[in-house]
Amino acid sequence: MKIAVLPGDGIGPEVTAQAVRVVRAVLGNRAFEMEEAPIGAAGVEAAGVPLPGPTRELAHKADAILFGSVGGPLDELADRSKRPGTALLTLRRELQLFANFRPAVLYPELIGASSLRPEIVKGLDLLVLRELNGDLYFGEPRGIHTDEKGERYGINTMRYSESEIARIAHVGFQTARKRRGKLCSVDKANVLETMHLWRDVVTGIGREYPDVELSHLFIDAAAMMLMRRPTSFDVIVTGNVFGDILSDAAAMLTGSIGMLPSASLGSSSKGLYEPVHGSAPDIAGQDIANPLAAILSAAMMLRYSFDLPEEAGRIEQAVRRVLAEGYRTADIDEPGARRVGTEAMADAVVAAIAH
Ligand code: NAD
Repeated sequence: MKIAVLPGDGIGPEVTAQAVRVVRAVLGNRAFEMEEAPIGAAGVEAAGVPLPGPTRELAHKADAILFGSVGGPLDELADRSKRPGTALLTLRRELQLFANFRPAVLYPELIGASSLRPEIVKGLDLLVLRELNGDLYFGEPRGIHTDEKGERYGINTMRYSESEIARIAHVGFQTARKRRGKLCSVDKANVLETMHLWRDVVTGIGREYPDVELSHLFIDAAAMMLMRRPTSFDVIVTGNVFGDILSDAAAMLTGSIGMLPSASLGSSSKGLYEPVHGSAPDIAGQDIANPLAAILSAAMMLRYSFDLPEEAGRIEQAVRRVLAEGYRTADIDEPGARRVGTEAMADAVVAAIAH
C-alpha cells in the first residue's frame, strides 16, 4: 500500500496530519508506505509551481492519495497555471479520476447543528456523485478577452461527450444498486444542449438497470428539493459544476462542511481522498478546524482503494463514538458539549479505535 500524502495549504496540513495518525492507529503493523509532498501554494513556495514534478510523480506512482486542500492568496493570480487550485484539477484530470463520491450523512448527535429543522433532516443519508473531468471547468474555449469596442468579456464552455456522461451514469446506477436503489440525475436539460444530451444518455443507460428507480430534476428544482425534503434522495448524479454546488449545500444539512469526506475514483482502485472543505484560511493555524472530514476521507481510502472495509468501519465507528461522547470542534459546538481542538478531536478518535 503506497499512500501519497499531499497536505496542501491552510488547514489542509492540520487536518491531514490527524488523518495520517488515525490511519497509522488502525493499520498498526500492516505494511504501508506513506510519502508526503507539497502541493498548491505550498508547491509554489517549495518549487515555484502548484504541482511540482516530484509531487506529480508521487501521485502517479501511489495506490491512493490522501489530499488536504489547496488555495489561498495566490487564487487571484492572473497566471492561471500558478494558482494553487490548478494542481488539484490537473491531478484529477491526469489520473482520470472522473467520479467524485460525496456522501452526506447526518449523525443523530449533530441534528441540532444542521441548518434545517430536525424533522426535515432526520435520517439524512444521501450521496452526491459528481462528474469531475468535464463541464465548464475544463471545456474550451475559455478565457477573458476584449471585444472590438474595448469591452472585456469572459467565456467558459460547458462540454460533455456521450462517453463521459455514460461512464459516470454507470457508476451512478451501480452505486444506487448497492444503496437504496434510487438514482436522481440532475441537469438543466430545459435550457442547455449539453444537459439535454446528459438526460438523453442517462435515460438510455437507465434501461440497463431496471432495478434502479431513475428520476430527473433540473438543478434549480433539485436545490429546492434538497432544502425541502432532503431525505427523499438516495444517490444524486450530476455534472461537475452542479455537483460542486449541490454537495456544499448537502454539507450544511449535516451540520458542518468539516464533517464531509470525499473520494475521487477512476476505473481502477486508485483514488484521491479529500475533505469536501477548502483550505479555510480564516481558521488556519489555530488548532480549531474539524479534522473529521479528513479522517472520514481516510476511511473511504481504506475501503475503496485498499479493500479494507473492516478497518474503514472501525474509523467510522470511532467517529460515531466520539460524537456520542460529546466531543465537538468549534464548527459543531453546542451547549454542554466537550469542546476540543483539531488535535484533541483526533486524540479522541485514536483512543476510540484502541477501545
Ligand atoms: P472553505 O471550505 O475553505 O471554507 C468555508 C467555511 O467553512 C469557512 O468559514 C471555514 O472556516 C469553514 N470550514 C471549512 N472547513 C472547516 C473545518 N474542517 N472545520 C471547521 N470549519 C471549516 O471554502 P472557501 O472559504 O470558499 O475557500 C477557501 C480556500 O479554499 C480558497 O482558496 C478555495 O479556492 C479553496 N478550496 C479548496 C478546495 C480543495 O482543495 N478541494 C475546495 C474548496 C475550496
